[in-house]
Amino acid sequence: MKDTCPSCLARDIAPAESRTRGDRTVDGYQCPNCRRTWTVTRDLTAYSELHARRAHNRTRKAAA
Ligand SMILES: [Zn+2]
Repeated sequence: MKDTCPSCLARDIAPAESRTRGDRTVDGYQCPNCRRTWTVTRDLTAYSELHARRAHNRTRKAAA
């Protein structure tokens, strides 16, 4: 799942690595602009809601 850089706010950065720990995923990122690294932990139980929101955004972009 893509994320936004917390340092320079570059968007749509793909995770360099993803790991699953039980019912959670840990995505590791490195910003191509400022080289900032960070990780995001997500509960898989919340994933379906996030996925629906992203699909909605994609639809709006396609319509515009
Ligand atoms: Zn950055």
